[in-house]
Amino acid sequence: MTAVLTAGECVAPLARVSGSDLRVPLVQGGDRTYVNFDCAASAPALSQVTDRIEALLPTYSSVHRGAGYASRVSTDCYEKARESVARFVGAGDEQVVVFTRNTTDSLNLLAGCVPGSTVVLDIEHHANLLPWKNSRVVRAADTLAETVRLLVAELCSRPSALLAVTGASNVTGEVLPIAALAEVAHRCGARILVDAAQLAPHRRIDLEAWGVDYLAFSGHKLYAPFGAGVLVGRRDWLDDAEPYLAGGGAVRNVTVESAQWVSAPAPEWASAPARHEAGTPNVLGAAALAAACDALSDLDFDRVAEHEAVLRSRILDGLESVDGLEFLRLWSDAPDTVGIVTFTIDGFEPGEIAAYLSAEHGIGVRDGRFCAHPLLERLGRPDGAVRVSLGLGSCSEDVDRLVDAVRTLVGGNRTWIYAKEGGQWNPVPERRFLLDAQR
Ligand code: PMP
Repeated sequence: MTAVLTAGECVAPLARVSGSDLRVPLVQGGDRTYVNFDCAASAPALSQVTDRIEALLPTYSSVHRGAGYASRVSTDCYEKARESVARFVGAGDEQVVVFTRNTTDSLNLLAGCVPGSTVVLDIEHHANLLPWKNSRVVRAADTLAETVRLLVAELCSRPSALLAVTGASNVTGEVLPIAALAEVAHRCGARILVDAAQLAPHRRIDLEAWGVDYLAFSGHKLYAPFGAGVLVGRRDWLDDAEPYLAGGGAVRNVTVESAQWVSAPAPEWASAPARHEAGTPNVLGAAALAAACDALSDLDFDRVAEHEAVLRSRILDGLESVDGLEFLRLWSDAPDTVGIVTFTIDGFEPGEIAAYLSAEHGIGVRDGRFCAHPLLERLGRPDGAVRVSLGLGSCSEDVDRLVDAVRTLVGGNRTWIYAKEGGQWNPVPERRFLLDAQR
């Protein structure tokens, strides 16, 4: 692991991630080391994660039903992965860890288990807006304090089963006061689910201390891009609901009669987590996610927060005086923000800025509406924005390249022409070749 903050102005990467020395072609010729400022979408693998996967591959085998030695090793690894996740989030004894594909999958799973209506804010990612079948959407106010007050009013106005809220906004990075919201939800007779897709990679989570009932996050945003996510939560709703997927592993015993369970008594379903994990599980995904949880815990979240706070301030300071540039934020009183900076620049479309940063500078950012259309609408940016998201592999040199590139663009000194075709901005002509993924 590399040093945290070096002397003076220079900030080094906090951890080793895959792709840190990737060279990418530039449209004007030559190549540069890639700057990955799209970690909020998917984060590169931590070296501890890739090491763990490599070590497991020789014993990779079927999970749960095999008597062979490799199968036993894989089963043990899969079940131990649950323990790592439970430790990472400070789960209580009554909370189970269910492996899923990603946050979206976890939230859809829970949506099938909620015995009543769900209250959500209008700032959520679509994954935490659309799955709830019986939802009431509260419009966030201009301050966090007033937003919490509106949530309390809605939760207590009618019986509510669940408050489903993000831990940190995927658009602005602002962190919500989860312990306070858990207290509010419980006071109004509801439970709380936290969509931790953007919180888990950046801040320590403590379900027991915060009083959080359910939590969902994705491995691919937690430096474990091997296709697994988790839902952690209280057992009772999970055990009372029908299995998320019906099939092998989710059931204790099946008869011909119970297989026709629409017209006959249902089969004897297993309890959670197996109840919601039918089919062959993604053992390597679970192991990768667990390795990332262990590595992040070892790294210490205070250092993670410090690293990204310094880099984020450097971006804000560097871009603040750029003509026509405006940062997006929701609340004047948000106490904390993860490593995300989102902005628009007058006179440039977000997609045009992103295409330019990629083509001429080898910098990867995200543009668009970030699967949060209602939020972009309320922020007055229905056409989207540019999001810069930092990760453990980010450093001050990356930030300085971004700031210089944006200043060059606004100063009228880009060297290429860009055009929008089929809704997407591209350099014209496009001279870059795509690296051969089969190499
Ligand atoms: N919630 C938030 C806050 C997110 O940022 C995302 C991903 N952009 C999701 C949910 C969905 O995550 P996934 O695509 O891994 O299911």
